[in-house]
Amino acid sequence: MFVGRFAPSPTGVLHLGNLRTALASWLSVRKAGGRWIIRMEDVDGPRCSRDLGEMQLRDLAALGLESDAPVIWQSARGDAYRQALAELHRADRLYPCLCTRRDLQLLASAPHAEDGLRPYPGRCRGRAWEGFDRALRLRLPDGAVAWEDRLFGPQVEDPGALTGDPLLFRRDGCFAYHLAVVVDDGAQGVTEVVRGADLRSVTATQIRLQGALGLPHPAYVHLGMVAAPDGGRLGKRAGALGLEALAARSVSPAEALGWLGWSLGCLDRPGPCAAPDLIGAFDWTRVPKEEVRVPAAWA
Ligand code: GLU
Repeated sequence: MFVGRFAPSPTGVLHLGNLRTALASWLSVRKAGGRWIIRMEDVDGPRCSRDLGEMQLRDLAALGLESDAPVIWQSARGDAYRQALAELHRADRLYPCLCTRRDLQLLASAPHAEDGLRPYPGRCRGRAWEGFDRALRLRLPDGAVAWEDRLFGPQVEDPGALTGDPLLFRRDGCFAYHLAVVVDDGAQGVTEVVRGADLRSVTATQIRLQGALGLPHPAYVHLGMVAAPDGGRLGKRAGALGLEALAARSVSPAEALGWLGWSLGCLDRPGPCAAPDLIGAFDWTRVPKEEVRVPAAWA
């Protein structure tokens, strides 16, 4: 069964980039006759809210994108994540990490890397097990991972150089993104992951984690980003370019959808439409690899 998913974090408004990812994933699934699911990635307790998640679901529904199965909220999935950690511990793949944010800044060994993308240098790798109430990292095996991106083709990447040993459990008691995303893609039988190009650098790491948990590897597509008219980043914060901000500029959901469909290669020019109108023309070979910019009139 072909299963695709859209997995937003309910930390803000879904902007045109997020909506484009959702639409591409939905179109790919509809074209293949599979199942499309929405998963709310609200593991990062303090930054997520149920209200924001509900608002995101309403915006997706306004575009005609609704989950074929009940929406899963990761905040309710602690047992599954704990079980996965126990399994990794039994296989001796976890170690406690006592590094503080400041230690990590001082240790950063890749001056070219953007903030937050520096690989963990492995300072705590030799630490003895101290129980499940510490921050926990996965010990990555050495070597590169070969994987295929449906848009960008074959990739060979060393996760040790991109993320280093990923954090799976945080000191504040939250399960970390890598653990939750991999466990749930496995549990939900996801066969195709569509997400933004900003997450391309974590894919090799997640493939390693799938391997450590004995889970199958889904296919991956990393979409070019949607940028502001001046090329800047679209933020997810309040006031970001989402459906509400567009409505204030008299842009209807149908017009937004037409622009998104055009940006994915389904239409010759943007114009109001409904999601099912785009299915016939959707094809990954027609989706541009480059970043797209929102129309200046909308910003
Ligand atoms: N929840 C992540 C985000 O909103 C996306 C996770 C994924 O697609 O793998 O950035």
